[in-house]
Amino acid sequence: MSGLSLKDVNAAYGKSHILHDVSLEIASGQVVTLLGRNGAGKTTTIRTIAGLLEPLSGSIRLDGEDLTRLRADQIVRRGVVCVTEGRGVFTHLTARENLELVERKGQDWTLERVLDEFPIVQPLLSRPGGGLSGGEQQILAIARALMLDPRVLLLDEPSQGLAPVMVERVLDVLARLRASGLSMLIVEQKLDIALEVAEYAYVLENGRVALHAPCSELSADPAIVNRFLGVSI
Ligand code: ATP
Repeated sequence: MSGLSLKDVNAAYGKSHILHDVSLEIASGQVVTLLGRNGAGKTTTIRTIAGLLEPLSGSIRLDGEDLTRLRADQIVRRGVVCVTEGRGVFTHLTARENLELVERKGQDWTLERVLDEFPIVQPLLSRPGGGLSGGEQQILAIARALMLDPRVLLLDEPSQGLAPVMVERVLDVLARLRASGLSMLIVEQKLDIALEVAEYAYVLENGRVALHAPCSELSADPAIVNRFLGVSI
């Protein structure tokens, strides 16, 4: 299959076995959301894909290439790029300096292209990362991730803690990336947002895939969603 796939992935923190035989697929160009209650294992799944946590067993492949035992930096170089919950913005550097850190020769997503396609980044450039709002930091973190030329972008709760107007702006950025054909895996707590932005959803429960279905089916069947997430839409 072309895209990212996890097959029977198990992962643990020390003796705490968190992920149990997690299998999921993000086809090339597809946007997939990962849902689940607090502590279900969503962040752990992203960390495992990104090489920040070594799986106990199972395999992770990108376009057929085995990424399972690669280091985090090698995985980034293969095109699997993560925007973490903490966003990783350097607070003492300006937004421009944050972006220049990942500038290199021959990249598809140059700073110029980022500014061209996402003019929302321009007014942030001269401001220190630490002076940006949560939403502005999120946009900066996505811009920086783009400059690593992702083939798959992993986003951990991109709307978390943001004011509604910034949630809209971040969603707009994600919608444009989706339209450009970028594959994304988006961890999201807010179901309405997840179903709006993604085409396919996996629901984790206690570290296992409890359900997976097209977002259109989940939107049409709130009872199922309620059962696994304990929320309504
Ligand atoms: P949330 O929405 O709260 O972030 P989540 O679905 O992302 O939840 P994870 O963060 O993956 O869940 O956590 C899954 C389980 O792993 C939880 O029981 C959590 O307490 C545990 N856990 C997470 N990080 C660590 C760690 N560094 N060491 C030990 N246990 C951890």
